[in-house]
Amino acid sequence: MNVQPFDDHESEVRSYCRSWPAVFTTAKGTRLWDENGRCYLDFFSGAGALNYGHNPPELKAALLEYLAEDNIVHGLDMMTVAKRTFLERFAEVILEPRGLDYKVQFPGPTGTNAVESALKLARKVTGRETVVSFTNAFHGMTLGSLSVTGNAMKRGGAGVPLVHSARMPYCDYLDEGPSLDVLEMFLADSGSGLDLPAAVIVETVQGEGGLNVASDTWLQRLKSICAEHDVLLIVDDVQMAIGRTGPFFSFEPSGITPDIVCLSKSISGFGLPMALTLLRPELDIWGPGEHNGTFRGNNPAFVTATAALSFWTDDKLSTQIAERADTMGAALGGIADRHRQSGAVVKGKGLARGIGFTDPAVASAVAAAAFDAGMLVETSGAESEVVKLMPPVNVTPDDLIEGLDLLGELVDSVIGDDVAAGVGERG
Ligand SMILES: *Cc1c(COP(=O)(O)O)cnc(C)c1O
Repeated sequence: MNVQPFDDHESEVRSYCRSWPAVFTTAKGTRLWDENGRCYLDFFSGAGALNYGHNPPELKAALLEYLAEDNIVHGLDMMTVAKRTFLERFAEVILEPRGLDYKVQFPGPTGTNAVESALKLARKVTGRETVVSFTNAFHGMTLGSLSVTGNAMKRGGAGVPLVHSARMPYCDYLDEGPSLDVLEMFLADSGSGLDLPAAVIVETVQGEGGLNVASDTWLQRLKSICAEHDVLLIVDDVQMAIGRTGPFFSFEPSGITPDIVCLSKSISGFGLPMALTLLRPELDIWGPGEHNGTFRGNNPAFVTATAALSFWTDDKLSTQIAERADTMGAALGGIADRHRQSGAVVKGKGLARGIGFTDPAVASAVAAAAFDAGMLVETSGAESEVVKLMPPVNVTPDDLIEGLDLLGELVDSVIGDDVAAGVGERG
């Protein structure tokens, strides 16, 4: 395996490739292959950018046809047929059936672009500076997004003070009730030192922050606190939308309507860069070009995104995701039960699930053992203490069970080794 060019030329900032030392070539559905022909089961899904798996055939066909006919690839924010079709279908298939009235902004191709545009707009609309975010939040790596992100290592990369943000405890950080009591008290108390914020930004499930779940009642109460104080609610649905927890938008079961929604990762459905910022029409006070960008018109992504909307014309996919999620929850529950003494707990929701361990070394050992056994899984959480499983949302039952069985064996053997090592030390 020749990794010399990566070592010689690529920056030390590279990360995933360190956990998965293979040179990949092809991929299909839940499987990747490396250049030696070794096959890997993918329970990572591009960190949520490949919710329909690798190279989904319906989307690939649409993309190949689009390219073969010399259609527009790069279009700034020019009007193109591909963008028009996407906007029409997105309204028809996603927004209208859910009673959602949003203008669509193309903020640039990445998740952090969507978050930056949301923060800017919230400040512009309200004339306020502070944005409230939550413990263990992850919103992206550019300065505005980092300022509302929790992780100390990632924040440390900023090199400048990360300002105009305030942290509050997420749903399960204290107990569920008290966590929002703090926000409510601080907003009501002129002595709290919390400036009235422009917005609150929240993930319904914290994908990078350890698969912490906000309950529906917590989200509902958060929405009503925001409404009461005239503070905008931004849902960062970059990772949890597009079926990851079941419905298209992760906030649907809670019944809340955010003021602004950030989408990216799986919106193109094919792993092509694309992001959307959805805003209530009254908030759309942008001046033309006030939030600009060269790559806001990735037309091939619009084509695959449009093709992917055909999966959402009925509730078949959501129902199937709920079934798979039950299977996954039961299997992980079984594994966690076997390893209570290691503090194993099931985390997450839908098909964004995992097992948290008291000792982060267990989680990283399981993820490393998974790679050795031919399976890609990531860790998540402040100390990387959670083994995070995100199979494609259209994973087949066979692939799902194969991955879950393997994970169970790996956890058993890692913790078994651990116990053996502990006994050895004492001896
Ligand atoms: C991945 C992610 C982002 C950042 O997206 P990038 O495309 O990596 O900039 C922002 N918010 C959440 C919740 C994410 O999971």
